[in-house]
Amino acid sequence: MKYYSTNGKADRATLHEAVVKGLAGDKGLFMPETIKRLPDSFFEEIQDLSFQEVAYRVADAFFGEDVPADTLKQIVYDTLSFDCPVVKVTDNIYSLELFHGPTLAFKDVGARFMARLLGYFIQQEGCKQVNVLVATSGDTGSAVANGFLGVEGIHVYVLYPKGKVSAIQECQFTTLGQNITALEVDGVFDDCQALVKSAFMDDELNRHMKLTSANSINVARFLPQAFYYFYAYAQMKKLGKAGRLVVCVPSGNFGNITAGLFGKVMGLPVKRFIAANNANDIFYNYLQTGEYHPRASIQTIANAMDVGDPSNFARIYDLYKGSHAAIAAEISGATYSDAQIAETVKACYEQNGYLLDPHGACGFRALSEGLREGETGVFLETAHPAKFKSTVENIIGCPVDVPAKLEAFMKGEKKSVPMSRNFEDFKAFLMRE
Ligand SMILES: *Cc1c(COP(=O)(O)O)cnc(C)c1O
Repeated sequence: MKYYSTNGKADRATLHEAVVKGLAGDKGLFMPETIKRLPDSFFEEIQDLSFQEVAYRVADAFFGEDVPADTLKQIVYDTLSFDCPVVKVTDNIYSLELFHGPTLAFKDVGARFMARLLGYFIQQEGCKQVNVLVATSGDTGSAVANGFLGVEGIHVYVLYPKGKVSAIQECQFTTLGQNITALEVDGVFDDCQALVKSAFMDDELNRHMKLTSANSINVARFLPQAFYYFYAYAQMKKLGKAGRLVVCVPSGNFGNITAGLFGKVMGLPVKRFIAANNANDIFYNYLQTGEYHPRASIQTIANAMDVGDPSNFARIYDLYKGSHAAIAAEISGATYSDAQIAETVKACYEQNGYLLDPHGACGFRALSEGLREGETGVFLETAHPAKFKSTVENIIGCPVDVPAKLEAFMKGEKKSVPMSRNFEDFKAFLMRE
């Protein structure tokens, strides 16, 4: 399968090229040339398949032409070593819990899949080590580091701003060892990002070592997110609740919801989607007015959704051929202030005994307010509430249990390399590697 750029000015790429490059040469996002429809027989038996079986069928539609069947199956099965259960919250609202992976957030799925696919391409090329550079303000670094942990032929360098990430987040990429190196940069997130960008542009460094990124717009991180939409449908069908299904996605960069929209094009029987935003309401405003006005992001308590110019908007726009009417027919929007998010976490906990994280709270609330007669809603619970422990504890006024998996990170020994924000220092470090 070939991949084209949403900007339309770059040559079409193979899957291999699209995964290694991440972004197209014209700075557009890669899109698969065809999105295959899955056969009716698949949807007839889907409720009897395991998560891995469902995911493999979806993966085959995307990647089957480019990756041998046994390899692809292995990658899918290794990626999904954890469950994504649907849990009942109210009579007609269910939570798709995407936080049972190693770093307790949905990004584990895409990061683990990408690591394995990249590992396969490297092995095939017989090339020497590939080095992944990733700048993080917290969550991306942990998902990428854990996703790539122990994958042969790849070394990951995580650059994070000293003193600017939470203790839990820092443990998730500084205690791993093996093929993961954490660099503690004396600066802010933008300094980390600038170091990574300079590294990609430096000829001498690129002759010395093969560098790539693990950005969330990479097709190998983006497309696998479709897996769990199909599995959510399978579980709802088993419960006899899949008739008029509304799927609500707490959204920031809109990669997650776009994977769901791809699922619908593949035949997934979802009636409609809701994109739930925090105060960063750029997409919400687009739905209302047909005009897209990016702006600087606003800081909120659902901070993984603090995005002022959602990168995957380009993919949604392309998927619906630029038609605002078509987009608004498929997706409706919602936007919530921090006060509303807090109110929702508290009320849902007290009324339903279900503890939401601040991101999932936007999704739950949008369904509570937006479901129509006869519809059943599933929202994506994108992270475990313990990842936002102090925020959530302040809201509900009692302690939040930390899962053993998260505790285990906290017990590991922190190892990081101190780094200045001066590119020459970073380059000298990499040249010695
Ligand atoms: C990344 C993230 C989101 C936003 O997902 P997008 O694909 O960027 O829309 C939502 N919730 C959590 C917890 C996240 O980490």
